[in-house]
Amino acid sequence: MLTDYHVHLRTDDLDASAAEHFTAANVERYRAVAGERGIAELGVSEHVYRFTQALEVWRHPFWERYAHDDLDEYCAFVREQTDLRLGIEADFVAGAEDRMANLLERDFDYVIGSVHFLRDGAVDMDDYSVWDSGRSVEDVWRRYFQTIAESARCGLFDVIAHPDLVKYWSPADLARSERRPEGDLRRYYEPAVEAIAEAGIAVEVSTAGLRKPTGELYPARAFLEMCVEAAVPVALSSDAHRPEDIGADYERALELLDAVGVRELCVFEGRKRRLEPIGATNAGALPAASSEAEAQ
Ligand SMILES: [Zn+2]
Ligand SMILES: [Zn+2]
Repeated sequence: MLTDYHVHLRTDDLDASAAEHFTAANVERYRAVAGERGIAELGVSEHVYRFTQALEVWRHPFWERYAHDDLDEYCAFVREQTDLRLGIEADFVAGAEDRMANLLERDFDYVIGSVHFLRDGAVDMDDYSVWDSGRSVEDVWRRYFQTIAESARCGLFDVIAHPDLVKYWSPADLARSERRPEGDLRRYYEPAVEAIAEAGIAVEVSTAGLRKPTGELYPARAFLEMCVEAAVPVALSSDAHRPEDIGADYERALELLDAVGVRELCVFEGRKRRLEPIGATNAGALPAASSEAEAQ
């Protein structure tokens, strides 16, 4: 069974409104692409900072700019007008765990935890960029994976999203790799994988990195191998922000999962997890992106 749980019903544009995107017709567009690509389990996970309730958790200027919608209206829309699993992508905010826990006390099927900020500095945006903070690349990477470890241990999340997002700007093949440390990166991964394993939660394999400057899947193969070694279960997602990206590049992800010996994927319902075999779908047989979907 294939899944896509880390999905947004709109782009990250500030003016991509809930009114325009939380509609049955928009969901139908996502469903159609999921159907074409053999994805049976589809869920949505809007960014927590899109909701006014998030400002009770954190008042970063970026969140203040984006927090316009009502979280309960989003939940009601997904529950009452769609057959999608109800999720949310919640940032880990160190020191605000109790307030985030309050916000997350709603009937989600799953909560995806993500780290986009190291304190006030963003890992994957030009605005508020942590890369302008004067810290060394090694320090940013070390702190990033330590923060992933903290996020895993905080007990709020079912899945840790794009677990090596810190590589966002840096393709592995040199040229622009000044934001990626040299050599074997496993020394950075270690505390993160250990914490995820101890917490008993899942790790996300996401194809979103292929659409970003890094041009790689999240996480790197070595990170995923360490997760497999530690018996951490895998949740597969595209992090789509538009219908045509549902299940995008899954053949690449399935190839990697097969290569490292992952045979099952997480399925979530009511914050409970079970494992389902990936099944007969092999990378070669996965339906390719249809030209119709591309054209939408
Ligand atoms: Zn994210
Ligand atoms: Zn996302």
